[in-house]
Amino acid sequence: MLQKTYTVDFLTKKRVVNNGIVPQYYVENNHEAIIPREIFMQVQEELVRRSRGHISTSGKKRNFSSNHVFSQIIFCGECGEIYRRVHWNNRGKKSIVWRCVSRLENTGLTCHSRTVLEDMIGLATVDAINKLIGQKDGFLTILKENIETVISETDNNIVSEIDKKLEELQKDLLRLANSKEDYNDIADEIYRLREERHKALAEEAGKKGSKQRLEEMEKFLNEQSTLLEEYDEQLVRRLIEKITVYDDKLTIEFKSGVEVDV
Ligand SMILES: [Zn+2]
Repeated sequence: MLQKTYTVDFLTKKRVVNNGIVPQYYVENNHEAIIPREIFMQVQEELVRRSRGHISTSGKKRNFSSNHVFSQIIFCGECGEIYRRVHWNNRGKKSIVWRCVSRLENTGLTCHSRTVLEDMIGLATVDAINKLIGQKDGFLTILKENIETVISETDNNIVSEIDKKLEELQKDLLRLANSKEDYNDIADEIYRLREERHKALAEEAGKKGSKQRLEEMEKFLNEQSTLLEEYDEQLVRRLIEKITVYDDKLTIEFKSGVEVDV
């Protein structure tokens, strides 16, 4: 970091620690990253993607500790809130159901959406996955095309070119700073480029993420030759991103982006 201390008295050359009174500049990439930058950005992308899906229409973040495969992925088609797991005891008849949070607590939204039996949701996921397997060839063609599109749109050179420029600018900055010359313009340019690089990295990570999700689906469809006969929790975790409950159907969105109504 440059400008860690600054001179308070030019006669005595007394310097004190700079607590933000004059601008400070960090020099980046002077040592190896603890986490490779690429992995860091991929994790960031995944976090953003997940949090997007999990913020309900009322803007509240629903973060239940439940690890159930359906928690955080079932949404209400009417009010947009998340569905929550409930143990129901209806005149002695026990069942596990999922209900919209707006019907369980005050979310500020009036909702009439239906209550669904957990077993029914499980069967709907089987139906949805089987629909994909049943139309395997068509989906594989689409997946392949989508993967190719992602690849063709990915330009790996943007980031490395920015890095090259940044390295040069940092050298200039250090040289100017060491010879006590003004380096404000260069520092500004460095900040601008860092922002640009951050954007480019996020974009790159986003593309890498969607490519991986497409390939995962492709892999599954290639492996799976027969229809599923029963509910498979692992497959739900692996393939399904979101389930939206409507009066007359469930819409199941796969991680690859494909949607199926059941
Ligand atoms: Zn609702």
